[in-house]
Amino acid sequence: MSAQNLPGQPHLAYRGKELFAEEVCLSDLAKEHGTPLFVYSKGSMLAALAAYQRGFSGRDVQICYAMKANPALGVIQVFAQAGCGFDIVSAGDMDRVLAAGGQAKSIIFSGVGKTRAEMRRALEAGIGCFNVESEAELEVLNEVALTLGTQAPISLRVNPNVDPKTHPYISTGLKGSKFGIAHERVVPTYQRAAKLAGLRIVGIDCHIGSQITQEGPYLDAVDRMLDLVQAIEGEGIPIHHIDFGGGLGIDYNGDTPPSAEHLWKNLLTKLDARGFGKRKLMIEPGRSLVGNAGVCLTEVLYLKPGPQKNFCIIDAAMNDLPRPAMYQAFHQIVPLNSREAELTTWDVVGPVCESGDWIGHDRMLAVEQGDLLAVLSAGAYCMSMASNYNSRGRAPEILVEGKNAHLIRQRETIADQIQKESLVNT
Ligand SMILES: *Cc1c(COP(=O)(O)O)cnc(C)c1O
Repeated sequence: MSAQNLPGQPHLAYRGKELFAEEVCLSDLAKEHGTPLFVYSKGSMLAALAAYQRGFSGRDVQICYAMKANPALGVIQVFAQAGCGFDIVSAGDMDRVLAAGGQAKSIIFSGVGKTRAEMRRALEAGIGCFNVESEAELEVLNEVALTLGTQAPISLRVNPNVDPKTHPYISTGLKGSKFGIAHERVVPTYQRAAKLAGLRIVGIDCHIGSQITQEGPYLDAVDRMLDLVQAIEGEGIPIHHIDFGGGLGIDYNGDTPPSAEHLWKNLLTKLDARGFGKRKLMIEPGRSLVGNAGVCLTEVLYLKPGPQKNFCIIDAAMNDLPRPAMYQAFHQIVPLNSREAELTTWDVVGPVCESGDWIGHDRMLAVEQGDLLAVLSAGAYCMSMASNYNSRGRAPEILVEGKNAHLIRQRETIADQIQKESLVNT
């Protein structure tokens, strides 16, 4: 049988009329587990990781999967077994890594609002590094470490003030951003950190944004970071590792981000030219490891043609797929069984009571009530941002590996949703 691959989706292909992920027929999964349903390809995740590994071959690099992109235990397990570390943003993230078999020492802890309780737990677990995001946080982390009679390994997250040329909600390295320490405060803050007995300086890091599709902002950030490393080391403070964050984009709709391999070959050339080629490097990719490994399967509930718009109402909604409502993001939508029928323009929308609950505007589809569709590029920032809005249970998740489909999360029931609630005794 000839397979027809979808552009940008090497693990997805039509075999005859049926869409497959690896060796698994997606409409069979939808029938067995119901919809909405998330399906992830392990092969696709490992291929995305391999592109980074090729770009870094022969270098001292730790790849830390930014698990907020997709924190399912079954997904973390894939990356832990492949030798990745993890970038976390809460103590809950840490517990997930440990529950999935990851090592505490491979964890780096990012985020602007770490609590004392989270710092304590991360210190007790023995994580690898705290990426400190403000001068105030530095003081608190020092106190917490001293109370525990230990030293916290730290790096400062610096704000390199470069424009990643992406959506404003996912730009994080500009001057007006809440993230990181302003460029001009970086050297004095390292000097302060070096005087604090509860801290041990191990690195420096930045993360300039997400869904970055151009190489330029990375190259600029590398230059700004290396200038800082020279200035800090000039003050007698050694920096063991340099962490360039994550943010590499994926192809959602004909986007053309550089490949991880290509990007890193070019960045390493720059590091070599500036004499930093042997330095330990870390990176924190999220979306680019999992985004195009996932699809969300959904059923067409109703067709509602109208004078101005035709609506295709599906059983997945903004609580499952929040990116269109949050950032006007684009996801491709394709049928699980391709039909030979005339294409019509549809607004594909969910059942939630919000006009913002749309999944795709003006899509050309040949659909009928009861058809199954796949929303593509749904591996990152979908389930991780899913909610129970409208009392909708979160969807189940399946990890496909060749012919095998492993259920890695069951569908959430209404009993799950209300179990922590109580009525008031009257
Ligand atoms: C979100 C985040 C990442 C990952 O970003 P992607 O765009 O998913 O690669 C990495 N580092 C930090 C600090 C983040 O907040």
